[in-house]
Amino acid sequence: MSNTPQYRRVLLKCSGEALLGNQQYGIDVETVSRIAKDIGDAHAMGVEVCVVVGGGNIFRGMSGSAKGMDRSSADYMGMLATVMNALALQNAIESLGMNSRVLSAIPMSAVCEPYIRRRAERHLEKGRVVIFAAGTGNPYFTTDTAAALRAAEMKCDALLKGTNVDGVYNKDPRHHSDAERYETLSHLDVLAKDLKVMDAAAISLARENQIPILVFSIQEEGAFARVLKKEGCFTEVV
Ligand code: UDP
Repeated sequence: MSNTPQYRRVLLKCSGEALLGNQQYGIDVETVSRIAKDIGDAHAMGVEVCVVVGGGNIFRGMSGSAKGMDRSSADYMGMLATVMNALALQNAIESLGMNSRVLSAIPMSAVCEPYIRRRAERHLEKGRVVIFAAGTGNPYFTTDTAAALRAAEMKCDALLKGTNVDGVYNKDPRHHSDAERYETLSHLDVLAKDLKVMDAAAISLARENQIPILVFSIQEEGAFARVLKKEGCFTEVV
């Protein structure tokens, strides 16, 4: 354990679900503010923070296609949902006095900047929190894969996957009181055991680029900054 952050630059993957709060659908403003504060704590420690935000609280392509929609159209709707979440998060971050930029994989110049890697780099150097929206910009992908892709492109030291549980367990801890949390796993373990950490494309990409994944509970206030100091509960995939 240490009081200083162990990383220079990280990417936080925040699912759309994490923004639901107690709601069934949409964006809970209080929850978004709390996550923004957690990002602020990490930023105040001198860590450069990138965020990839999901869209599952608003729309998922798979559920649209299950009801008969064309999969690509449904996926584009899912990507647009991530842009809404990104704008909500940017708003909450800026209301705390930090600077932030949303960079979208699908250009929409009236709303945010297009994703340009070198521009993202510049924003981070200037101490801005960079939020990557619209996933990879391609249908048939997920924002988990986008998170691994952006983490590789931005040369992040770690990918932090914020979930509803404080790590990866051998069984679902919500249904099994004897479930045990893994302290560490390898990327290959995750793939071989088919553990629900991130989708296989994301894990493979992280593995090929030697990016550690830290799985932690984004529902726990302050957990993001603690994990960056290697404190508290989390599972490390290395
Ligand atoms: N999506 C996509 N390509 C991407 C990223 C996302 O098509 O590169 C679409 C896909 O339909 C997905 C939706 O956007 O269901 C929302 O993303 P995701 O399900 O990953 O969000 P999360 O589960 O993290 O909230």
